[in-house]
Amino acid sequence: MQIPEWLAEIGKQRISPYPVEGFVYGMGPERPKLMLVGEAPGETEIHNGIPFSGRAGTELMKFLERAGVSREEVYITSAVRSRPYKWGEKRTRSGEMIRRKYNRAPSSAEMLAHAPLLDYEIEHVKAPVIVALGNIGLKRLCGPEMRVTEVHGRFIKQPVRRLKDMESSEYTWTEKEYLIFPTFHPASIFYNRQLLELIHEDMDKLGSYLRSPDSALTLYTNTTMNDEADQNEHH
Ligand code: URA
Repeated sequence: MQIPEWLAEIGKQRISPYPVEGFVYGMGPERPKLMLVGEAPGETEIHNGIPFSGRAGTELMKFLERAGVSREEVYITSAVRSRPYKWGEKRTRSGEMIRRKYNRAPSSAEMLAHAPLLDYEIEHVKAPVIVALGNIGLKRLCGPEMRVTEVHGRFIKQPVRRLKDMESSEYTWTEKEYLIFPTFHPASIFYNRQLLELIHEDMDKLGSYLRSPDSALTLYTNTTMNDEADQNEHH
């Protein structure tokens, strides 16, 4: 599945005021085993046009293997389809200082600019589960209160955020409910190696869902909200 060209053009136009470069299409089958939502492409991705083909991608592929799926079986996209960059300085081997672009997380304005693209993908890609990779993807889908450290490794059934309309800078909720499975962004292990163990546990749960959806949902569905409601009832 690839978003239509007219929509890609709208996305490119909407994001043109911001410091971003390149454009990488989401990639994968129309009926994948999973849909993965990351942050934004980085330097590697905008050069070869393949999502998650850089360092984070290498880690992601190991995680998918652990869950028992291949790149060809999943649809990979992100909240923003261009590379957000910031300028920084770097000393070369010869000691000279040069200015270069560094990857950065997308801003909320950039996510709004590309919201119609992800909205389209969510509507058209028929995936049984949407895996939110990290806080950026998770908040884009489930709202700013969600935190990956609190909800990773659980299946959450709920509507997802979508842009109200093309002129709006507000989100609304889809009528449909989706099954969301939050986990950490693969690049998070570069900064915090301890997360690897948690990601492995999450991938094992995802794998068990893929093999046996009903029993995995019984075991790993998010129940905190119900627990809270129960508690409120008792107080
Ligand atoms: N991080 C993302 O979220 N997407 C990519 O394509 C690469 C890194």
